Amino acid sequence: MEGTPRLFIVVPCYNEEQVLPETAPRFLDKINEMIDRGAINSDSRILFVDDGSSDSTWNIIMALNRQDPHFQGIRQSRNRGHQNAVLAGLMEAKDKADIVISIDCDGQDDFNAMDAMVDKYHEGYDVVYGVRSSRETDTFFKRFTAQSFYKLLAALGADTVYNHADYRLTSKRVLEAFADFHEVNLFLRGLFPLVGFPSTTVEYERHERIAGHSHYPLRKMLALAFNGITSLSIKPIRIITALGAIVSLISFIGVIWVITKAAMGDTVSGWASTACILCFVSGVQLLSLGVIGEYIGKIYLETKHRPRYIISDRTE
Ligand code: UDP
Ligand code: MG
Repeated sequence: MEGTPRLFIVVPCYNEEQVLPETAPRFLDKINEMIDRGAINSDSRILFVDDGSSDSTWNIIMALNRQDPHFQGIRQSRNRGHQNAVLAGLMEAKDKADIVISIDCDGQDDFNAMDAMVDKYHEGYDVVYGVRSSRETDTFFKRFTAQSFYKLLAALGADTVYNHADYRLTSKRVLEAFADFHEVNLFLRGLFPLVGFPSTTVEYERHERIAGHSHYPLRKMLALAFNGITSLSIKPIRIITALGAIVSLISFIGVIWVITKAAMGDTVSGWASTACILCFVSGVQLLSLGVIGEYIGKIYLETKHRPRYIISDRTE
């Protein structure tokens, strides 16, 4: 087994008591299968990150660890969200593992893609992005919003991998480099392309959640999308500048038109048009302030340097 990499599978879990007993044995089967075919080291582990669950998730993780030492767990002191839970797992695994795969615990991401990811690592890739081959299991609405989001990100110049969520393999040296990214507002899938190193993709089918419900309602999805855009790009501010220039130009033309008319003794009447213009301009201004405020808010949160995760318990 000398020379084979030690793999850590990082699995964030938040209130997943219905799901974990089902998926945990499948994680174990997969890791044993890879050990048996000599792709990974027998010291490889499945690291569950309990993201401050309020149900019995942590008890299940502890019981799994007692059953089989391949299962390990860390627990966050409170719920901090999926991105921070993944980060906690990655940082925990970085010193012990040669490669880390992050995957959701609900069985939606196809486990078999891990084989292809590890094979790609052996071919020399440091980052392997899991990419959804189809979105058939999604509702039309989710499919449409997700695709629009990736297109918008691309248009704003942010480098993300199309249809990649957080199912990904990273090597130790990538994680060591990533440890120097200190941002509090995390959008992991947009940050790994910035780390660099040779990367590739592996396609996989995304299934239905095997039990429980999604923790990403529309509100949280929008927040993640908004965070993604403002974390990766400052183009929205530039767009505001351009918008300001366009509105100024239009009003300049308007002023010349009014003056010319007045010079000809023909004053333009009507308060309705004035009111409309006022409303339009104040709308644009408020919107612009909102966008700029979003960036200022982000600076405010970043300058506090609060910890991004706090681990309260660990197995073993
Ligand atoms: N999750 C988490 N913290 C949270 C919300 C979710 O660790 O605050 C985990 C959850 O247990 C799951 C993964 O993140 O393993 C993805 O969440 P979910 O399946 O609810 O999202 P969806 O797949 O619907 O986007
Ligand atoms: Mg899910």
